Amino acid sequence: MLSLHRLPGVPTAKPPLFPSTSTFTHPPRRPTFLFPQSKTLPKPPKFHKSPTALLQWNRKPQLSGETPRVVVVTSGKGGVGKTTTTANIGLSLARLDFSVVAIDADVGLRNLDLLLGLENRVNYTALEVLNGDCRLDQALVRDKRWSNFELLCISKPRSKLPLGFGGKALIWLVDALKSRTEGCPDFILIDCPAGIDAGFITAITPANEAILITTPDITALRDADRVTGLLECDGIRDIKMIVNRVRTDMIKGEDMMSVLDVQEMLGLPLLGAIPEDSEVIRSTNRGYPLVLNKPPTLAGLAFEQAAWRLVEQDTMQAVMVEEEPKRGFFSFFGWSIANLLSCVGGSGRGARRKLTKAEARD
Ligand code: ADP
Ligand code: MG
Repeated sequence: MLSLHRLPGVPTAKPPLFPSTSTFTHPPRRPTFLFPQSKTLPKPPKFHKSPTALLQWNRKPQLSGETPRVVVVTSGKGGVGKTTTTANIGLSLARLDFSVVAIDADVGLRNLDLLLGLENRVNYTALEVLNGDCRLDQALVRDKRWSNFELLCISKPRSKLPLGFGGKALIWLVDALKSRTEGCPDFILIDCPAGIDAGFITAITPANEAILITTPDITALRDADRVTGLLECDGIRDIKMIVNRVRTDMIKGEDMMSVLDVQEMLGLPLLGAIPEDSEVIRSTNRGYPLVLNKPPTLAGLAFEQAAWRLVEQDTMQAVMVEEEPKRGFFSFFGWSIANLLSCVGGSGRGARRKLTKAEARD
């Protein structure tokens, strides 16, 4: 594990990762079944209500920042979960009553429409809008499940990035979305293509914030680090990361970096940690995003929590905690938070220990 820190291209820790008070500031305090229950921990209490009912928070998250929030979902490396994240966070935001336009900027290899189950309804694309062959509203595909969610594909599948289509064209499209008669959307999510070539530059141009997706492996981390530098050069300062496909069993077996390790390497604020979940693949193939599943799955809940943090421009912390549950009234919450954090902040080196405040500050 230590040798990873010395890899060329992978930076060393960029402190401070923790504030002096090492409290866990999770925005929506919903009972969390996010991560597997440790054998040493007590079972959560039995609920009289259905789990889904308990997951309904009694408040709407407060939208922070100017609208539209133009967020690019990027990674550098392909196959780490950008499109999955765009679909799930996009629909979570729509469910939270925000208007969302998701732009699939992956020219030639688009698949956001498939994940959303909207592939048969894409008749026009942004290129046709730019050529004057159709109106913008004809190219926007409204989701029938959540009418405040719309999809805009840049091009037809298998087409090439046309000459002259670049960042300015995407800025024009974003401006056109802002000035629609229906009103400006709250969020514009841009699903970025893999790599750092022209398609990537085009996709990041109109964005003023970025979600960097990475998996806990060194290849994805090196690419993520490179992409972070490019985003900063482009003037995008608000960069948060999501660590996807986290496996607690592998972290405990020292076969996978923990989210804390990843955060130490990239030095970025953490928007969410998504567990590896076979439901993701099932939902991808069904064209039915995970966050719509009933009952919710582990990864679905994690995406929803990430969406909450995105709305409130909040982050979560990767910290190590004792696995011993707290006694008393909040024992259940102690259990759930300990479980969540043991996944998020596992040392990847076997037995967990408490991180002292002094250590956290160092
Ligand atoms: P990208 O857009 O970065 O190329 P995708 O979102 O298309 O990546 O995801 C690549 C593959 O990984 C898909 O088959 C998807 O189902 C799978 N995948 C993504 N996230 C998870 C997860 N948390 N658990 C299991 N499979 C996942
Ligand atoms: Mg993709």
